[in-house]
Amino acid sequence: AMPTVAVVGRPNVGKSTLVNRILGRREAVVEDVPGVTRDRISYEASWAGRRFLVQDTGGWEPDAKGLQQHVARQAEVAMETADAILLVVDATVGATATDEAAVRKLRRSKIPVILVANKVDDQKVEIEAATLWSLGLGEPRMVSAAHGRGTGDLLDDVLAAL
Ligand code: GDP
Ligand code: MG
Repeated sequence: AMPTVAVVGRPNVGKSTLVNRILGRREAVVEDVPGVTRDRISYEASWAGRRFLVQDTGGWEPDAKGLQQHVARQAEVAMETADAILLVVDATVGATATDEAAVRKLRRSKIPVILVANKVDDQKVEIEAATLWSLGLGEPRMVSAAHGRGTGDLLDDVLAAL
């Protein structure tokens, strides 16, 4: 079976935009309104001649209620079953309490986790992105999913983790 790379993180950090960038086509739904992706959706992707599934998830939040609880649970299933995880955070915001809660959850599993600092559209944001070392997941891989900056290097790292 093809390995699965799950893309997880809190709402609005750019998970679906990153999934589309990895696919090289616009298939995952990107929205300014959080909470559009309700389930786990897998798409076939390839990079450097290797094929894998990339799984988009809805925004993960601790202590979610109602529909958001369903969304969060689906993201948790993705975190528990993937072969590698991309934890996406918004570099323009920095580490939030929700990001820290996601890190604690992911630390309990043995699945490799790559920290993605998204929205690094220019060098100015790189300085803010460097503060994300504080999450304890190692080097934040700086990307701009919207512009494609850094995503090739990220995919090289993803393949190395699979
Ligand atoms: P999701 O909720 O995590 O799936 O986030 P989306 O992919 O739907 O994106 C949420 C918002 O962030 C949208 O308005 C995107 O256009 C925007 N966004 C995503 N990636 C980037 C990026 O690299 N740079 C900037 N400036 N905005 C981005
Ligand atoms: Mg989304």
